[in-house]
Amino acid sequence: MKIPLVDLAWQHDQIADEVRAGLDRVVAEGAFILGPEVASFEQEFARASGVAHCVGVGSGTDALELCLRAAGVSVGDEVVVPANTFIASALAVVRAGARPVFVDADPDTHLIDVQAALDRVGPATRAILPVDLFGQIAPIEQLADGLGGPAGTAAGPIIVEDAAQSQGARRHGRHSGSFGSIAGTSFYPGKNLGAWGDAGAVMTDDAELAGRVRRLRQYGSETKYEHPELGFNSRLDSVQAVVLRAKLARLDAWNQLRREAAARYDVLLADLPDVVRPETLPGNEHVWHLYTVRVPERDRVLAALHAAGVGAGVHYPVPIHLQGAFAGHGHRAGDFPVAEAAAQQLISLPIYPGIEPAQQERVVSVLADARAAA
Ligand SMILES: *Cc1c(COP(=O)(O)O)cnc(C)c1O
Repeated sequence: MKIPLVDLAWQHDQIADEVRAGLDRVVAEGAFILGPEVASFEQEFARASGVAHCVGVGSGTDALELCLRAAGVSVGDEVVVPANTFIASALAVVRAGARPVFVDADPDTHLIDVQAALDRVGPATRAILPVDLFGQIAPIEQLADGLGGPAGTAAGPIIVEDAAQSQGARRHGRHSGSFGSIAGTSFYPGKNLGAWGDAGAVMTDDAELAGRVRRLRQYGSETKYEHPELGFNSRLDSVQAVVLRAKLARLDAWNQLRREAAARYDVLLADLPDVVRPETLPGNEHVWHLYTVRVPERDRVLAALHAAGVGAGVHYPVPIHLQGAFAGHGHRAGDFPVAEAAAQQLISLPIYPGIEPAQQERVVSVLADARAAA
């Protein structure tokens, strides 16, 4: 029994007819870039995220860069970023011209260490970029409180939410993408809301920020061939919007299936005392982009899972501050012990809407055997 880390075919089967009809509309209209499908998706996703504005862009990395640029972050500025995230969170900062300042994670949730982030705020800090890692929203209201007010109104650093792993999640009833002054998300195919290629979006309640992102994504232009500022070409295209609209209509139901699968793992793993199950922060409705456990002798256990056809993953094997790309920052092993321990101990077990209970039982039995063989 082969069990992949993610199974996109199950999703595609459910939306195939709807997408085919949508693609026919796009071809008939000839509106391949932006166009009515994109405008409809932007409205639908803004409503689903509880924000006033959604702007579709080319990728999640672009979304975060455009968030920072729209907020005026640039050369000489610092942005506080967790060390244990996908590297794109930090790349967006660099691409905006600023310097990422890394901080460690909370040892239980692996979300950003709020106190460490606040401690790193200095005169050059223009933004903090918390990441909704693995599918639960970071304690962003605590960051905002620590900065002295609701995000976006304080005179100090603004908060930019990296919501790439949390589509559909809620925290104290508020939606992913609605925390902070502005948020970026990714519709990379494997995300909870995934396109058929690269895609992303920016969410905000601030009309001025949204307007700036709209100009930046479109060559710095609002009126064709008038370019008051330097922009980019980073737009959501109509084909992706068709796919995303079909999947958005099912996102809550699919996230519910992920929650049921996570609850099943919780029960199956309860008998394995040395496997630490993921912790959900109080107030969070988790959407389980990833189900990560901590195990001793991770690499040996991982090899056993792979040998048995279980597509387990590691998120992430090297924390950002130890990546070659950031060697110039002068970090060393030991600087962020929680992020470094996570890199050595975490395993992501297969989870996706459509995973069968028998598949999960198999994953856990292989995991149990691998530990017993230690
Ligand atoms: C996927 C991801 C991104 C980047 O998104 P792309 O669409 O691949 O550019 C950024 N941050 C996090 C946390 C991610 O998981």
